[in-house]
Amino acid sequence: MSNKLKKLRYVFIIYWFLLAYILTALIWWFIALNVQNRQMTQYKIREIHPADKNYDFQLNKIREEGKRKSAQYAGEGSIFFLLIAAGAAFVFRAVRKQLKISQEQQHFMIAITHELKTPIAVAKLNLETLQKRKLDETQQLRLIQTTLQETNRLNALCNNMLLSSQIEAGGYTITKEETNLSDLVSNCVQDFITRYPDHLIETAIKENIFIHGDRLLLQMMVNNLIDNAIKYSPRELAITIVLNETNDRITLEVKDKGKGITGEEKGRIFNKFYRTGNAATKAAKGTGLGLYLTKKIVKQHDGNIFVTDHIPAGAIFTVTLNALPEKN
Ligand code: ADP
Repeated sequence: MSNKLKKLRYVFIIYWFLLAYILTALIWWFIALNVQNRQMTQYKIREIHPADKNYDFQLNKIREEGKRKSAQYAGEGSIFFLLIAAGAAFVFRAVRKQLKISQEQQHFMIAITHELKTPIAVAKLNLETLQKRKLDETQQLRLIQTTLQETNRLNALCNNMLLSSQIEAGGYTITKEETNLSDLVSNCVQDFITRYPDHLIETAIKENIFIHGDRLLLQMMVNNLIDNAIKYSPRELAITIVLNETNDRITLEVKDKGKGITGEEKGRIFNKFYRTGNAATKAAKGTGLGLYLTKKIVKQHDGNIFVTDHIPAGAIFTVTLNALPEKN
């Protein structure tokens, strides 16, 4: 991957060199043509005699022609310059975008290796401890609990990766069915409460909200949002999950009181592999796939997702979706 980055850097150097060369050549040709034009005009003026009866007329004609040529060079030169500038800007943006994707992919590879290794290492250690030592029941249960937690994380991560590539390659067939979103969200929250008993989780979930959607994808959407709220906020500050419906429009809000997201980054966090901060120094674990996938899922369900500030601190992720008419 770093080879690829090096190559792209070379492309940039060649690009700037060529651009500088083209522009210098353009200016040089413009000056040369103008000088030539002036010399031609002088030469033509010298060719006519002041004694000629239509001397003034010919002189004016030669000067006019000289001026017209100058204007023609300036006009053509400007169009040429504009076309080069537009082409150069286009190529520059395309290459820079490619460079950014490469960098993000590299960060992703670092993150993913870390993400895969940690749960495996923890599970292995726990199982070895269980095998070698005689532990009392509570200790055993605790080890099993953390092993399960790690395997769940591994499972969620694999699902995120698998689904991202499947959705992108068109390999995932969405199966939409009538789904009780209130139950689905409550079950997800319950899972998190079991997995993170120390974290304060509050809910306000309106009952019997129905949606026409893919259960697996919706579950993944809710899990990704709650997972982030837990990951990016201290455990003593509550996260809140609100599910509501008004006029056949569903709103799901996941609020936390963590570090929040800066204005500039609000637009980027939904990009593939994007993670705030520097990959090497990131404290929280992650791959930058969660929100990308979440947004894809929301779009698949004709909904919207956006992030706002949670005053005084934290972030609010809001998803809006279409509801099915309520059942009696
Ligand atoms: P991951 O969490 O695996 O890094 P995501 O796509 O879920 O990837 O999130 C992208 C980035 O958005 C994260 O790296 C994080 O910096 C930021 N982010 C997401 N959710 C929150 C949140 N609730 N509070 C603060 N930052 C967040």
